[in-house]
Amino acid sequence: MGVLGRLVMLMMPITPRFVVGWVAKRYVAGPDLDSAVRVMHSMNSQGACFTLDVLGEEITTLEEADFFVSEYHRALDAIIAEGVDANISLKPTAFGLLIDEKIAIENIEKITRVASENDIFVRLDMEDNRVTQSTIDIVTEMHNRGLSNIGTVLQSRLFRTTEDISLLSSKLGGNSDVRICKGIYLESENIAQTKYHDIVLATNKAIEELLDAGAYTAIASHDIPVIEHSLVALGNRGMGPNIDDPRANAGPVRAGKGPGYEFQFLLGVRGNIRRNLAKEGHRTRVYIPYGSRWYEYSMRRLRENPDVAWHVAKSIIMPWTNRR
Ligand code: FAD
Repeated sequence: MGVLGRLVMLMMPITPRFVVGWVAKRYVAGPDLDSAVRVMHSMNSQGACFTLDVLGEEITTLEEADFFVSEYHRALDAIIAEGVDANISLKPTAFGLLIDEKIAIENIEKITRVASENDIFVRLDMEDNRVTQSTIDIVTEMHNRGLSNIGTVLQSRLFRTTEDISLLSSKLGGNSDVRICKGIYLESENIAQTKYHDIVLATNKAIEELLDAGAYTAIASHDIPVIEHSLVALGNRGMGPNIDDPRANAGPVRAGKGPGYEFQFLLGVRGNIRRNLAKEGHRTRVYIPYGSRWYEYSMRRLRENPDVAWHVAKSIIMPWTNRR
């Protein structure tokens, strides 16, 4: 992290809420579902599809989970009513995973069932290492219960990821659908890579492992070396825009998905790279967070990973490095 990033971190506790709001406007669609729908419609012309995320995580009472269950039902209704090309991403701890796993599973199943009836995919975001295994277990449990419209995220910085890729693929076959990202949580060096170069290598390796395992591979990185490596890896396997997935071990073609892979970006981050990929015909998905808890979300992300502070500062001071 540069000097500016450190400065942003130091200023955080005394930064007025309206300033945080001004910065967050770029990365958060707005306080409610209507604002998320507006953002999705406004980006339609950029060839993007979307995943909706209701802001909030790790609840302290199970009653709080009811809010997320009903808000995600509203989000599904809006996706259907507005005819937008979107799915949903949710954080298992917002459904009670760290309080009562059984209830969290019931909550997630309710939403996944409604989504399944409407051909909509559900992605369980991956949180910190306390819930890696249980998040993966929920996905396999949902598949056991006949719901194949669900997948999760694996974080390439974790040493365990190679094994998780092969276990998920052996259990779910071509129905395995994984978003692969570096991982935002700064995990300890006992369980994770901690240096930029090693994390990039691990990410590139994990992408190839997913492609070879037949998994639907959602590449979620704004990092140019990772994107360039992905394009080569896809080309080496005969995969690409407007080509039917050639992999013998791939799953069936599904509504709302690309030919075995897609690229994913966070709202407000490196839109120029995303738009170029879309122009070349790649399926590109934008992660759209919305909700009244935007302030807590922004502060928490900054505290969890100070690099984010540096990225944000850089986007303001050197806008050419990161176009919206
Ligand atoms: P970096 O090297 O960190 O970033 C490359 C460049 O992208 C930076 O130089 C900067 O210009 C820009 N950039 C990256 N991140 C930001 C930012 N936050 N704000 C402003 N500019 C930025 N992590 C999880 O742990 N669990 C998840 O479920 C998860 N889901 C994700 C979903 C999507 C669609 C994406 C894109 C990321 C997700 N992440 C998740 C975050 C991911 O793990 C990384 O922390 C994040 O994407 C930064 O890594 P990078 O590969 O983009 O590379």
